[in-house]
Amino acid sequence: MIVQSNHSLKDLNTFGIDVTAKYFAEASHMDDFIELLQQYHNEEILILGGGSNVLFTKDFDGLVIKNNLKGISIVEDHPEYVVVKAAAGEIWHELVLWTIEKGFGGIENLSLIPGCVGASPMQNIGAYGVELKDCFHSLEALNRTTKEITTFNAAQCAFGYRESVFKHEYKNQFIILSVSLKLFKHPIIKIEYGDIRAALTEKGIQKPTIKDVSDAVIAIRQSKLPDPKTLGNAGSFFKNPIIDTATFDTFHHAYPQAPFYKNESSYKIPAGWLIEQCGWKGKVVGHVGAHAKQALVLVNYGSATGEEIKKIAFDIQHSVFQKFNIRIEPEVNFY
Ligand code: FAD
Ligand code: NAP
Repeated sequence: MIVQSNHSLKDLNTFGIDVTAKYFAEASHMDDFIELLQQYHNEEILILGGGSNVLFTKDFDGLVIKNNLKGISIVEDHPEYVVVKAAAGEIWHELVLWTIEKGFGGIENLSLIPGCVGASPMQNIGAYGVELKDCFHSLEALNRTTKEITTFNAAQCAFGYRESVFKHEYKNQFIILSVSLKLFKHPIIKIEYGDIRAALTEKGIQKPTIKDVSDAVIAIRQSKLPDPKTLGNAGSFFKNPIIDTATFDTFHHAYPQAPFYKNESSYKIPAGWLIEQCGWKGKVVGHVGAHAKQALVLVNYGSATGEEIKKIAFDIQHSVFQKFNIRIEPEVNFY
């Protein structure tokens, strides 16, 4: 295994921020992780997947390990469902396509989410009415201190809305090695969210397959979201705020036209709408902007630094708070 010094991370983060790592290595086997953890125990260590949910604000003063563990297999086969285990370094969207080809339903609505399998539990990835937790079976993770492998079930991961135990109590304590999913041979199709049904109807599809749903999600995403290959971004920069009933009542009274989604005893307000109302949609400051089609996505128009993006993000956060008295929290991880 080769460890490189002063390695550029520009092509390893979808914002395209031009920073370096003091040390950089790729781990293709669990033993590589153990060796690196032992050898670099005095350094700060960052595990990187596809770099699609990180913002580097400076050079990384430590060791970056790119997770390159590969392999997808069916580990349980039942009449109604299978359990599929995917190594953490697999590309998430390629896993989705693999499951669709095999006819296993459950993650088709999560098509085209960038990044690797290993990061998917970190924030319980979600899109178009489905979250990872809906078909999560278990994961295996390497304890960075004890070097033991632990299996976590869904309850132990404490999944929430773009949240898990790995962003809080166990932050920086585990390296996720694999994720296992329970997928169905006779899947229940979910097309009520957003434009999926309309996109299928337009194509004359009345009884969609999981492939039809995936194709629809891919087409909608490609029409709305900037492709990081051409325009640096990390998807939604902020999480949608979840507010309690009292806060919602005040908000709704002042802004009856605002979109909202009611959960059991709380309300989700689309952060993109809040940002747009503050005049940020399509606005460009220096090399950074809020995307013209989705204000929630901050974009690097060329040579923005992470600090520049962070500053605009805080300005946006501040203006939303000033106008609506609602705090929006970043979804992106800062380094
Ligand atoms: P990275 O950015 O590499 O890492 C993210 C965090 O996880 C870091 O803190 C990293 O240290 C940690 N991490 C990564 N791998 C491991 C591991 N194996 N073990 C321990 N820690 C690890 N997200 C959604 O939820 N839904 C969406 O619909 C969605 N759409 C997006 C669209 C675009 C255009 C972009 C750019 C991003 C989008 N995202 C979305 C955000 C992002 O793609 C996901 O959060 C994805 O899961 C991040 O994967 P990654 O491999 O790139 O993680
Ligand atoms: P959208 O359809 O314009 O909707 C805006 C927001 O409203 C979404 O964030 C979504 O919340 C919420 N919403 C819409 N319909 C809903 C419903 N029926 N029930 C509950 N909530 C609803 O959003 P978009 O920007 O085009 O994104 C589409 C999907 O892709 C969303 O699920 C979004 O989360 C996901 N996405 C995520 C990222 C990321 O980086 N995290 C980036 C791009 C897209 P939810 O976010 O809770 O779904």
